[in-house]
Amino acid sequence: GTPLAILGAIGRSARLGAIIKGGTHLETLSQVDTIVLDKTGTLTFGEPDVTSIATVPGASEAEILAAAATAEIRSEHPLGKAIVGRARAAGTAIVEPSSFSYSPGMGISAIGPKGAIVVGNAGWMERNGVSLADFGPREEATTWVHVAQDGKLLGAIGIADRERPEARRAIAAFNKMGIRTILLTGDSAPVAKAMGAKLGIDDVRPELLPENKLDHIRELVGGKSKVAMVGDGINDTLALAAADVGVAMGSGTEVARERSDIVLLGNDLERFAQTVMLARRARGIIL
Ligand code: ADP
Ligand code: MG
Repeated sequence: GTPLAILGAIGRSARLGAIIKGGTHLETLSQVDTIVLDKTGTLTFGEPDVTSIATVPGASEAEILAAAATAEIRSEHPLGKAIVGRARAAGTAIVEPSSFSYSPGMGISAIGPKGAIVVGNAGWMERNGVSLADFGPREEATTWVHVAQDGKLLGAIGIADRERPEARRAIAAFNKMGIRTILLTGDSAPVAKAMGAKLGIDDVRPELLPENKLDHIRELVGGKSKVAMVGDGINDTLALAAADVGVAMGSGTEVARERSDIVLLGNDLERFAQTVMLARRARGIIL
């Protein structure tokens, strides 16, 4: 059977909002020396807002919002929700797309009333043959979602997300325990670096597709590291399953919660740090 100290720690963790799906996960958690964190939805609330709209000459804000919202109307991604929310607030009539496809970590392509719409990061534009040449430098620590219609860039929508207030304290607690922290994100390098600097994470790995996140976890696990991965999205599912301990945010997508060993009901990373401490203590009692 499961040792009493472990059962007790599972119960105390549950009271902290960390649901641990079995004693072995708690034992593994006690040995973790590396914690890998996803950015959007994990270190941030994942409920970003549109902060600015940049248009190319000849395009209007109304036009860019209409095209982007048509592409994102069926999207479950926080960026898509932010765009649709802003379009609604601006009174934009949002037309359903006649086709829609999502490429995780990159963006969306859809067919709207005015032709093909492509929405996403710079790499996604490049893949779809959209030139970003007319577009000057922009505020770096903002996530820019580019919007093209009929093969031409209309502009980009600037979106920013707020950090969870517990994130900084959690990172400090991990550091104190001698646990190394790594930030993995599909977002751009400047946005990732700014976030890392704010939260105290030096090891920041940006512009990753879901399979790249998996590669990073495999490399760490294949080395000598005991790795916990904390994430929330469909794009984190592979990485969560490959880590020694997969930890899902309670607000995360259903697949992420299903594929994880621990679920953080209250989305509280600081309480997760306390759970790691509990796991270490429980193990100390057994040994
Ligand atoms: P994270 O790893 O931070 O959770 P994602 O992997 O979900 O981020 O997304 C990475 C990047 O891909 C985003 O910063 C954005 O540029 C682009 N992207 C992803 N989904 C969408 C979408 N629905 N609309 C526009 N861009 C998107
Ligand atoms: Mg995420």
